[in-house]
Amino acid sequence: MHKYCLECGWRASTEDGDSEREISRKAIEHFVETGHTVDSIPLPPRCVIKN
Ligand SMILES: [Zn+2]
Repeated sequence: MHKYCLECGWRASTEDGDSEREISRKAIEHFVETGHTVDSIPLPPRCVIKN
């Protein structure tokens, strides 16, 4: 999961080591704090398989 802001450079991704739940929480926090629109895209499978 990768979430990014449509209005500034904010982003959060499971590639950074956070869980999807944590990223969803951060996205809501960003929206609450700034009123910005946060969009999300699923990551391709290669990013999920790390072993
Ligand atoms: Zn923003």
